[in-house]
Amino acid sequence: MDMNLIIQIVYFIGAFLFILGLKQMGSPITARRGIVWAGIGMVMATLITYFHHDVNQNYLWITLAIAIGGVIAYVSGKKVAMTDMPQMIALYNGMGGGAAAAIAAVELIKLEPMSFVMQSLAVLGALIGTVAFSGSLVAFAKLQGLMRGVIRFPMQQWVNALVFVVVVTIGLAIILSGNEYALTTLTVFFVLALIFGVMMTVPIGGADMPVVISLYNALTGLAVGFEGYVLGNPAMMIAGIVVGSAGTLLTQLMAKAMNRPISNVLFSNFGDGGGGEAAAASGSMKEIDSTDVAVMMAFAEKVVIIPGYGMAVAQAQHKVWEMTKQLQERGVTVKFAIHPVAGRMPGHMNVLLAEAGVPYDIIYDLDEINDEFPTTDVVLVIGANDVVNPAARTDPNSPIYGMPILNADYAKNVIVVKRGKGTGFSGIENHLFFADNTRMLYGDGQAVANDLVTSLKEL
Ligand code: NAP
Repeated sequence: MDMNLIIQIVYFIGAFLFILGLKQMGSPITARRGIVWAGIGMVMATLITYFHHDVNQNYLWITLAIAIGGVIAYVSGKKVAMTDMPQMIALYNGMGGGAAAAIAAVELIKLEPMSFVMQSLAVLGALIGTVAFSGSLVAFAKLQGLMRGVIRFPMQQWVNALVFVVVVTIGLAIILSGNEYALTTLTVFFVLALIFGVMMTVPIGGADMPVVISLYNALTGLAVGFEGYVLGNPAMMIAGIVVGSAGTLLTQLMAKAMNRPISNVLFSNFGDGGGGEAAAASGSMKEIDSTDVAVMMAFAEKVVIIPGYGMAVAQAQHKVWEMTKQLQERGVTVKFAIHPVAGRMPGHMNVLLAEAGVPYDIIYDLDEINDEFPTTDVVLVIGANDVVNPAARTDPNSPIYGMPILNADYAKNVIVVKRGKGTGFSGIENHLFFADNTRMLYGDGQAVANDLVTSLKEL
């Protein structure tokens, strides 16, 4: 059989595996398998590319690049903590965007005649990939704590808009000039695109970084898809489209779960004191100790546990599951309620609970469980804050007003586990903590869960 045909068939199977893998990632039960399938697809597509006629003589370089990248990815993937996953994803995304931009650069530097469509896609992919590359690196630096705070100056959005217009104009000039453009023009185009990615990301607060990362993920997919077209590589095209559309949907989902349009995420200075005058909470925070909480839960009919970012930081999921099993043994119905943006990325809580062995059938999404709170005896909020703040429902001046929340405040009793009186991610006061039916159980999530396990044993 003709080698080219074999290559195309393998690419096709690879692309099929990407789609199958993505489908399986839709449920936590099959997600692990999905990642393996998509990985096999990627290995197949990479290996068969060795036989492509364009690769000739470059085997050593390719193998070296794959080996270096592979080792770095393997070691960092093994070492990364769940709480650091968002920045890891930012870095991987950035690399994808950078790779797509590099492919475009190689094609454009050749100054060979290309069809109008192909040249347009090469330039567009170069622009999007480069912006996603530098923007993702800034997002990584912010989440990793290498870069603190935000950089803002007067007329910033106008300056950014100007840089964008200039870079798009140069891109158009390159497209329209056929292969008559100067390499200096191409260099200026790439440098400005890099600068634009940085400028667009530096004013955005750390609070919105996960959404920005998801947006760059979508852009990276688009860039890879475009460059796949330029290279005539269907596996790249399909992989790019799949990543692009999944990233777009995820970005929309996050924005919707926070009830904020993407434009608000990109241009609003959210979470840095820029909101309106939110109503002050009335009442006081009332403390409780772990023994009393253990008694309350042991004699309850139904307990709902709401985990948040703090549970991830404290790595409390294993102890929480141990406590859950003790309650179940006493005949208490225990359910977990997961808000779509609890933690720092979608699915964050589900992954942690799955890791601890919590069965999927006691884990509920916001829509599935929100009506159950009035009939719940005890809600245990562990390390969650914004996602249970009733101000989102009741205070039109609150920066999170309109964000769907878990209606924990409707339960008969609410216990909130946190270390101190600090605010959550959005930096605003939580009215739930001051409610009559709420008691505060202060301490590190894991230590508190451990105390609850001990107290339950002693009952
Ligand atoms: P959160 O609002 O960030 O609150 C975390 C809580 O955990 C805080 O009250 C903190 O209080 C507590 N905490 C921290 N470390 C702890 C520890 N070791 N032990 C016990 N408690 C600890 O978290 P969330 O309720 O999960 O809300 C998620 C936030 O992230 C939302 O604002 C959401 O919009 C935002 N966000 C999420 C995503 C996503 O995709 N998931 C994307 C973008 C933005 P103390 O400091 O007093 O302990």
